[in-house]
Amino acid sequence: MVTIDEEFDMVIKLVLIGDTGVGKSNLLSRYTRDEFNSESKTTIGVDFATRTIQIGKKKMKTQIWDTAGQERYRAMTNAYYRGAAGALIVFDICSLNSFDSIGRWLQEIREYGDPGVPIVLVGNKFDLKHLRQVPISTAELFAHENSLKYIETSALLNSNVESAFQFLITEIINSFS
Ligand code: GDP
Ligand code: MG
Repeated sequence: MVTIDEEFDMVIKLVLIGDTGVGKSNLLSRYTRDEFNSESKTTIGVDFATRTIQIGKKKMKTQIWDTAGQERYRAMTNAYYRGAAGALIVFDICSLNSFDSIGRWLQEIREYGDPGVPIVLVGNKFDLKHLRQVPISTAELFAHENSLKYIETSALLNSNVESAFQFLITEIINSFS
């Protein structure tokens, strides 16, 4: 969804999806507040955070939605996906399980989201190289087969977090023109 706001040229809704524990909330807090939390705690109350970015002459507000733990019960509602202009599907490179879930998340966003919504696949926790269970080549192949961009991030080290969101925003902007 892209809405026009008086103060902003555009407001863009983005959604974070993926299994519990992969690092969605930390990617969000890193991107919007430059914060990282080593304790895993379920997001309570807060549904989204925003960040203002400047692209060329345009000032845009990104509104990024995070699950409040519903993903644990696979109880995501239509409202979560409604109007999303793009999605980050996140897995943990140290969890084959979380990678195996990607297909289901893709199916869900394609069912509930707008058709052709840009999606970036994110392999998080790449700082934990020694615990890696998902080879880069496997993730890249999957991304390629499903026409997604793939990027590896570390919310802990603040590596590529900016780029992951930037990738998605660029895809969204390109899809307008
Ligand atoms: P969510 O359930 O997907 O929202 O995941 P959280 O953001 O709550 O993170 C789950 C756990 O993984 C927490 O203990 C985080 O500190 C940890 N975590 C998140 N991102 C990273 C990362 O990039 N590297 C490492 N080593 N741990 C991370
Ligand atoms: Mg969370």
